[in-house]
Amino acid sequence: MAIFNGDIHKAHSFECTCGKTHSSPIGEALIGEGTLKGLPEMLKRLGIGKRILVVTDDVVFDIVGKKAASLWEAGGLALTWYVFKCPMLPDETALGQVLLAAGSEVDALVALGGGSVTDVTRFVASRIGKPHIPVPTAMTHDGFFTDMALLLVGGMKTTIVCEPPAAFLADMDIIKYAPARMNAAGLGEMTAKLTAIADWYAAHLIRGEHYCGETERLMREAIDQAFAASDGIAKGDPSSLLSLTDALYKSAVDMNWYGSARTGAGAEHHLTHYWVMRHAARGVRPNMHGAEVGVATVLVIDMWKRILSIDEHSFDVEKVVSAMPSKDEWVTMVEKGYGPAAPEAFKAQKNKSFDKGARREEVKRILAALPALREKLSFLPDYKALAMRLKQAGAPFVPSQLHVSREELIDSVLYAKEVRSKYTSLWIADALGLLPELSIALADDAQALESQLTV
Ligand SMILES: [Zn+2]
Ligand SMILES: [Zn+2]
Repeated sequence: MAIFNGDIHKAHSFECTCGKTHSSPIGEALIGEGTLKGLPEMLKRLGIGKRILVVTDDVVFDIVGKKAASLWEAGGLALTWYVFKCPMLPDETALGQVLLAAGSEVDALVALGGGSVTDVTRFVASRIGKPHIPVPTAMTHDGFFTDMALLLVGGMKTTIVCEPPAAFLADMDIIKYAPARMNAAGLGEMTAKLTAIADWYAAHLIRGEHYCGETERLMREAIDQAFAASDGIAKGDPSSLLSLTDALYKSAVDMNWYGSARTGAGAEHHLTHYWVMRHAARGVRPNMHGAEVGVATVLVIDMWKRILSIDEHSFDVEKVVSAMPSKDEWVTMVEKGYGPAAPEAFKAQKNKSFDKGARREEVKRILAALPALREKLSFLPDYKALAMRLKQAGAPFVPSQLHVSREELIDSVLYAKEVRSKYTSLWIADALGLLPELSIALADDAQALESQLTV
């Protein structure tokens, strides 16, 4: 039964039947076709002043800059522009440039562009205590709506918690001109929510993590909305892109409701973090985040189906408990998987238990949860059918399309969980002693998918 009766596109807060108060701080989400002109009125409704610094880049400025300037000035806004030269990096220099451009006179900052422009703008706006409004030009992921900024600090990718956007504006008349693969990455991001929910529910049953049906309902609604019109993403169909944008917005609201990314990121995100690390080590150009997590979801669904097919009645608990690695064996394994980054894993797992009794109890809890998991996770699609949907939307669907080698894929299944404490299907598979065989099986399945679906 739905219990949220407010307007999901405005800031809200409500007492949920799960016992928590869920809220979203985003003042207003204006999503549609031709919404660009709505910025001045939206700012007025939210009580934000008229002196606006617009941060963008030269490519975006050439496409929509003049139109935005004339619409917004006609609406009474006093605009100052900071236009980055492409390619721009979200580093200290960029932050300093926007900080200087902002001065002390502005009432708000508008980020007109992609993820990096938004992250730089978000950081500066948060530090100078001004509201910021993302106006994305491609729907690549759900980071536009969060309070996080992914920045390059000292050359290292660093996520910094900032303020959430005061409001958000998305115009399909702009987003439809983005390269199809960029909006397809947004579908990849929504795909990841399937396995995020699966991992969350499993963590609830096995570890007792807080679970909320209303929060699950909103995320499931967002996933359905993204896929309902996904066939139109590749050709830039505005109504498909509108569905996708609304879905990504709802996904961010959902994570706000829960208070963490638990409902929107699970094992699939962890696999991609490992790929990013290995790619950086061998100097491969990074892929789009949404494209990566979409591919990883195909793998994690394959993994989930294999976990769910275990027979809990004939499973040999004592065999997996006695095969559990000792601390020394684990250290050797982590050093093999992470090389110079191994200390990061040791830090993340500083409370890791090597107690066989605790492992026995965990395995028993997993086996006891399997019947309920089979029933609940029946919403997960077949991984091949999902790969087909991604392909139709113009998104990659197997790791090789992202330059992830077979060895990197196998290693990611074996090691990706070690730098995270979040309980996911990777930890479940590990407890059941399945990771070595799963790593090979998933690599084989991905290879078979590649020959079936790529021509
Ligand atoms: Zn709730
Ligand atoms: Zn993500």
